[in-house]
Amino acid sequence: MVFTVTTKCNLNCSYCFQNNTQRQDAGEDIISALPGFIRREAGERPAIKKVRLSLFGGEPLLRQAACLTLLDYVQRECAALALQFEGGIVTNGLGADPDFWQTAAKFGLKKVQVTIDGSEKVHDGFRQLNGAGTYKPLLSLCSRLSGTFQMSLKYNLNRRSAECFEGFV
Ligand code: SF4
Repeated sequence: MVFTVTTKCNLNCSYCFQNNTQRQDAGEDIISALPGFIRREAGERPAIKKVRLSLFGGEPLLRQAACLTLLDYVQRECAALALQFEGGIVTNGLGADPDFWQTAAKFGLKKVQVTIDGSEKVHDGFRQLNGAGTYKPLLSLCSRLSGTFQMSLKYNLNRRSAECFEGFV
């Protein structure tokens, strides 16, 4: 399952469609309905043995409490139904509270996907937070989290980032 926690974002990448999309955030009613949905689906489809939940945005870290609640609800429901659970998040990695990652790991988060847009110069041309480049903070986050989570790095290819791809690899 891919759950769009919010379509808002703390960055404003020039190629992104999300920040121009004004959608309401998923509310508590939708979040709290998720365990019931899983229970029904698992009841109707006995072949289901594992639930994967991917927290998606916009930037899901803008709603950290909602992310943790989702992971907690789904992990607990899966345990009650004897299903395996694997939590994931697709994030720009910026702005997490100090204890977010530790709590998320406790609630079943296993996979973290982040995106690089090229060399430091090219990446920072696309992705800035409050006017500052995000390449160094992102790589530092990856290095901190790699002992706890399975990290996956997505490389956005476009004309500018393609030129520095070999150097990056
Ligand atoms: S970090 Fe992702 S969601 Fe946010 S503006 Fe950039 S591409 Fe869009």
